[in-house]
Amino acid sequence: MVEIIENKDITSFTTFGIPVKARYFAEYSSERELLALSRKEEFLNNEVLHIGGGSNLLFLEDFGGLVLHSAIKGIKEYRKDDETVYAIAGAGEKWTDFVDWCLERNLAGVENLAHIPGEVGASAIQNVGAYGVEAKDVIHVVECFDTQTRKTVRFSNEECRFGYRDSMFKKDDVRGRYYVLRVSFRLRPDGIPMSLDYGPLKSLKERLGKYPTIQEVAREVTNIRKSKLPEPSETGSAGSFFKNPVVPVHFYKKIKNGGFGDVPAYPAGEGVVKLSAAWLIDKAGMKGVRFGGAMVYDRQPLVIVNAGGASGRDVKELSDEIIRRVRTKFYITLKPEVNFIDTGIKITVLGTGGSKGTPELGCECHVCTSDDIRDKRLRSSVLVETAGLRLLIDPSPDFRQQALNLRLADIDAVLVTHSHYDHVGGFDDLRPFCGNENMPIYLRADVNADLHRRLDYCFREHPYPGVPTFKMNVIDNKPFYINGLKIVPVEVMHGKLPIYGYRIGKFAYITDASHISEEEKEKLENLDVLIINSLRDKPHFAHFSFDQAMDMIRDLSPNRAYLTHLCHEAGCHAELESRVPAGVSPAYDGQIILSTR
Ligand SMILES: Cc1cc2nc3c(=O)[nH]c(=O)nc-3n(C[C@H](O)[C@H](O)[C@H](O)COP(=O)(O)OP(=O)(O)OC[C@H]3O[C@@H](n4cnc5c(N)ncnc54)[C@H](O)[C@@H]3O)c2cc1C
Repeated sequence: MVEIIENKDITSFTTFGIPVKARYFAEYSSERELLALSRKEEFLNNEVLHIGGGSNLLFLEDFGGLVLHSAIKGIKEYRKDDETVYAIAGAGEKWTDFVDWCLERNLAGVENLAHIPGEVGASAIQNVGAYGVEAKDVIHVVECFDTQTRKTVRFSNEECRFGYRDSMFKKDDVRGRYYVLRVSFRLRPDGIPMSLDYGPLKSLKERLGKYPTIQEVAREVTNIRKSKLPEPSETGSAGSFFKNPVVPVHFYKKIKNGGFGDVPAYPAGEGVVKLSAAWLIDKAGMKGVRFGGAMVYDRQPLVIVNAGGASGRDVKELSDEIIRRVRTKFYITLKPEVNFIDTGIKITVLGTGGSKGTPELGCECHVCTSDDIRDKRLRSSVLVETAGLRLLIDPSPDFRQQALNLRLADIDAVLVTHSHYDHVGGFDDLRPFCGNENMPIYLRADVNADLHRRLDYCFREHPYPGVPTFKMNVIDNKPFYINGLKIVPVEVMHGKLPIYGYRIGKFAYITDASHISEEEKEKLENLDVLIINSLRDKPHFAHFSFDQAMDMIRDLSPNRAYLTHLCHEAGCHAELESRVPAGVSPAYDGQIILSTR
């Protein structure tokens, strides 16, 4: 029977070498053991993370759930014809052992992927790639355990929908559902290298004076990698930290003509090119830059290393600094390739004010003239950080100031509650974060229509160069996913207008509500943190008053509740604080609230 170990140190299961513990940990060696595990309380009642060799993971904190690891081993040939040898490998096999197995049998296909850390299971999730070859070029079938049906399923290469360091296993609601048990590969018995088209491999034939064997290619690749990349056994890292950005050709030309004629670029489809993230980081002056124990590797700036005593937060801070500096120099937003792992939610309260903010212009009341910094209320908005994502709820008209206050490095997506100006007035200021990509926006159909009217200049067929670029995702009142993170819209009434609040894990953000139906209230059960609007004492037709907000909090009974969308008539922070019951607080601008997920 598989043992579930409590409070397990899993540092040695990662390549960053940053100390980290899992609340629960289990390693299984067969489907039968995995099936038994999937029925355990620890599996059913916790967030579950399946890891491989931990070479693409950055733990930002100890993992509060169950970490699983596969010890399914074995590599064997199972079918053969003149042109193809089919081999199957257990998910728990080291990738390098699989490559060596192929080289020993003169089976071609994976020689360019020599010396990549990690395990066979993750090669299919990640679609590992190097020197012009990707795992997708050789993967035949991926055999998985489906955690929903508890059955074994097989996916063909096409069904895996592989992309650049991507596969369907990373997509939205599928993320985390399938555990790879085995991967079968299509290899060639002719022993002829798959590709010599990339970088230094191009000259290998000339240097050797003959056509190279796959063993020679693998040796060459290994030597180059050793000279450029840190060895995980000596220096902690997760390999390439950022993806190479794919940008419109006009972006590339602007950089090239702006004094950087040597910018490396590779064709990546119609009208777009792939730029070298390493080159961008280098030119942004980040090589060798250190933050705490984290450092940009001096031999390869695409890699962040643990230079000694780094924490997950050090690495994240440094990664943010890289993103800022590259954007400053090239107006390009780098996106991490590494999987950020956490089990909590960090909420930064960007604004807590009503539609006019506090102080209100021209008002001399005791709240508007208060010296207490907590009485300076910008328009309501929050930034939610979890699962490696930064989500903005409502770009308020004060967004620019809010982002400056925070030295905000990036935003991955924006959720919109409704289209009243105090919740969308900052849309144009999202421009720097759109950069080379369209900013994903999640919103109701009516809000989308409104914004198309009001921001028509952004949606024209030939927009003015430099306008913000958005990808509008119209949602209805059903859960949706961003990079596998489940977001639950909660429909509330703002007077007569239906608008959305959002629930993410055990956190919910409700603003501008005056009524929540019984059905929607069910979505707000078992919350750790609720942020909810409480305009003032005097009733308002479209907002909860203080008493109504208190009733709603009592009804929903979250562990903690915070009041927002407070107008000056709500009173000072200190006054509100003295009136609220235990577990309830007025929120204030800049406040950081932590919630479980
Ligand atoms: C020095 C160095 C160099 C690197 N060079 C390259 C390179 O050239 N090319 C490249 O593509 N990558 C490279 N990487 C990144 C990394 O090696 C790959 O992404 C690798 O595939 C990760 O494998 P892993 O087993 O360590 O997976 P992990 O990092 O443990 O996990 C990666 C993802 O796969 C999931 N996962 C792992 N195993 C399973 C399973 N059995 N079932 C379901 N999900 C699973 C995890 O949940 C996670 O989402 C490098 C890393 C380092 C440290």
